[in-house]
Amino acid sequence: MTSAENRCSLCGEPAVVRLAEPERRLCAAHFIEDAGARVFAAVKHECMISSGDRVAVGLSGGKDSTALLLLLHPILPALGASLIAVTIDEGIAGYREETLKAAESLTDELGVEHAIVTFTDLFGDDLDRLLVGREPQGCTVCGVLRRRALVEGVKRVGATKLATGHNLDDEAQSVLMNVLRGDLPRLLQDTSAGYPGHFVPRIKPLAVLSEKEIVTYLLLRSYFRDLPECPYAGTALRSEVRSMLAGLEHRHPGTMLRLMRFRDGVRRSACPAEPAKALSTCRICGELASGEVCQVCRLLGRDGK
Ligand code: SF4
Repeated sequence: MTSAENRCSLCGEPAVVRLAEPERRLCAAHFIEDAGARVFAAVKHECMISSGDRVAVGLSGGKDSTALLLLLHPILPALGASLIAVTIDEGIAGYREETLKAAESLTDELGVEHAIVTFTDLFGDDLDRLLVGREPQGCTVCGVLRRRALVEGVKRVGATKLATGHNLDDEAQSVLMNVLRGDLPRLLQDTSAGYPGHFVPRIKPLAVLSEKEIVTYLLLRSYFRDLPECPYAGTALRSEVRSMLAGLEHRHPGTMLRLMRFRDGVRRSACPAEPAKALSTCRICGELASGEVCQVCRLLGRDGK
């Protein structure tokens, strides 16, 4: 027997989730519909995709990017846009092979074009070898190289937008980390406009769904796969912030959504007096850099240091 309080607010069937803001309980079918409608509304409301766009989905094969592709796939034709999946193969033994297989089987099933860009092709070696002697910096090195690889992948496939699978938890964690680090420029940084000639606008349609909602969505649609964890995963601060936020969200539902509203409010009211510092181009590879040499060339030792 399902108690009256544990029934779908829309149809009275047994509820599978309870959502905050507005508070409601939903059955499996209405939750799947609700998640799709929220992503579609975010895409429309924030004008993320225009007619004629070729949208590259950064598809790692993990849960977030799988959900992103599943949610964007049915709505793009209605917006007059097309879709292509781009997977970055960093070369992480025991991890990437599995997620790559998952990405390939999903794109095959949906009939979505799929391009794979490898670190070896772009940087001359895989991540495992590039990290020898500096394994604790795994995510920092990988993050810089992955961003460049995605930019390169997007250029190769001729996409006009890049959609990434950042969810509400990722975004709220980043807000809190930037606050804890006192990093106002990063808190204000918005890559949704892109940088003409260097990178296309980046969109995050999944930022309206929490990690828990994404897992529920995949389980209900039978797309959840238990994949291995990246062996380099998790910087100390992000791990701490993740557990702190998870506890706060559990005790005070809606905390993460309110953090996002706080960030948007700060961005809107930020004083525009200081013009953004003009970025220069790297003297070695010609990509954007904040100094004479970009982070990628520095990490790869191309500057001879
Ligand atoms: Fe790269 Fe870190 Fe993600 Fe692993 S967890 S793929 S090292 S960014």
